[in-house]
Amino acid sequence: MKQLLEITNLSVEFASKQGALKAIEDVSLTIGEGETVCLVGESGSGKSVTSKSVMRLIDYENGKIAGGSIWLDGDDLTRLPQKELRALRGKKMAMVFQEPMAAFDPVFTVGIQIMEVIIQHKQGNRQQAWERAVHLLQRVGIPEPEIRMKQYPGEMSGGMLQRAMIAMALACGPQLLIADEPTTALDVTIQAQILHLLQELKAEFNMSILLITHDMGIAAEMADRIIVMYAGQVVEQATVQQLFTKPHHPYTRGLLRSITTMESDRSSRLFSIEGTIPPLSDLPAGCRFHPRCPYATERCEQESPLLQLVNERLTACWHAEELVQREEWQPQAGT
Ligand code: SF4
Ligand code: MG
Repeated sequence: MKQLLEITNLSVEFASKQGALKAIEDVSLTIGEGETVCLVGESGSGKSVTSKSVMRLIDYENGKIAGGSIWLDGDDLTRLPQKELRALRGKKMAMVFQEPMAAFDPVFTVGIQIMEVIIQHKQGNRQQAWERAVHLLQRVGIPEPEIRMKQYPGEMSGGMLQRAMIAMALACGPQLLIADEPTTALDVTIQAQILHLLQELKAEFNMSILLITHDMGIAAEMADRIIVMYAGQVVEQATVQQLFTKPHHPYTRGLLRSITTMESDRSSRLFSIEGTIPPLSDLPAGCRFHPRCPYATERCEQESPLLQLVNERLTACWHAEELVQREEWQPQAGT
């Protein structure tokens, strides 16, 4: 498989009152052409920072790339000036968010905003942009697209606006679509429809998808590969099959348990792992998961585990191998 996106040892810092905080550290991942990769982890794990770094949106949020590279189809995105990035955004890579109002400006009609993307990237004149926008709205399942073109974002329902945002993201046929929790705010039925739509569009537009979710059920359904993040680092990277049949990292195990927890009680805590993710200003020494890990040893408190190949997947845990040998994986019992 040809790689489309290659992130290597990416570190990102944010300026804060306490000084520079590292939001992600040494993150490496790849996405092949036509592949869907899911980034999973609790909020605060660095998923959104990773994806916004690809779009270089962190530049607008006091963030800066402190190290590493992000290659997308021949360009190192960490080195490009904003002017050149603007030309790539929309055309080579596009993003959809949890909150569609973040993508739309409330004072312009939905149609104008989609047309603007097409015109700015010189993909057509006004007439062509209008026609393409109508076509895209129709394709994402919006009835009476000509009428919807003239509506303002506030006049559409959440699910409808989500579809319109996807249409806008696809306006210039990006090779990479980044979707950050695209369905979290929607009810379950519409959520399923939107995910199905993304899958169809991926094949139709020949795209790769980087999908960010905290929902392992969605990851199971959508992903070819899953990347698990914790406290700004990648802790496991595996195919869906590998991850669900034999999760190696104790954190991944906890995440998988959260599916059953959520199904039985949607209002209950999202994660079955005791404790909370540490703040960036106060990261524990050694393995960042050690304060919450039932398998932590003295070594874990002192030395930070490297991401390494264990049983054909990457995992960052000193004890992953012995843990897997010792215990059969069972989603319900134990840890
Ligand atoms: Fe747990 Fe130690 Fe593995 Fe970290 S390195 S996940 S603390 S066993
Ligand atoms: Mg997020």
